[in-house]
Amino acid sequence: METVNESDLRETVQFHGHLCPGLALGYRVAKAALRELKADRPRDEELVAIVENDSCAADAVQFVTGATFGKGNLIFRDYGKHVYTFFNRRTGQGVRISEDYRGFEADGRFAELRKRQEAGEDVARELQACKMEKAAAILKADEKEMFTITPVVDLPPREAGIRGSVRCAVCGEKFMESRGRVKNGAIVCIPCFEKE
Ligand SMILES: [Zn+2]
Ligand SMILES: [Zn+2]
Repeated sequence: METVNESDLRETVQFHGHLCPGLALGYRVAKAALRELKADRPRDEELVAIVENDSCAADAVQFVTGATFGKGNLIFRDYGKHVYTFFNRRTGQGVRISEDYRGFEADGRFAELRKRQEAGEDVARELQACKMEKAAAILKADEKEMFTITPVVDLPPREAGIRGSVRCAVCGEKFMESRGRVKNGAIVCIPCFEKE
């Protein structure tokens, strides 16, 4: 079973800007999801990805699965968790991938380097080496040791496409109707609503 394809890994790194442990993780997640959901067309808009963090991993998920914010099939839930849920709308299948890799738990080097960095020491080179080592370890780790993969049955509701826009009573800028808030009896945008 192929876990890493050199050329598409290289393209993912190019998209993100660098190789790092987060990107490696997102790559493995996305590959596992495509396989589980038999979504072999990576630009399939019927594939929906829900990411529960906005770390480097999310970039790999976006690039490998082709799910994007603009198409509405990449959904961000700000839970700060390495949990990724995917749905194939064509087949109705869904899968939840939770990362639980313990391979680094005994490795205190990263924390120690961070501490030295905070103390003003220049450890950039060591940190980078440590990150590369972790990324490589993630790329070749046994999937079963890294992820808990469970099927999901309920599909997320389809986001409505184009919605009407209204003008904010305070700043005058247009915004999506569904995002409107009421302030002092007027319809305003969220930034204006949250001001003061
Ligand atoms: Zn990164
Ligand atoms: Zn406004």
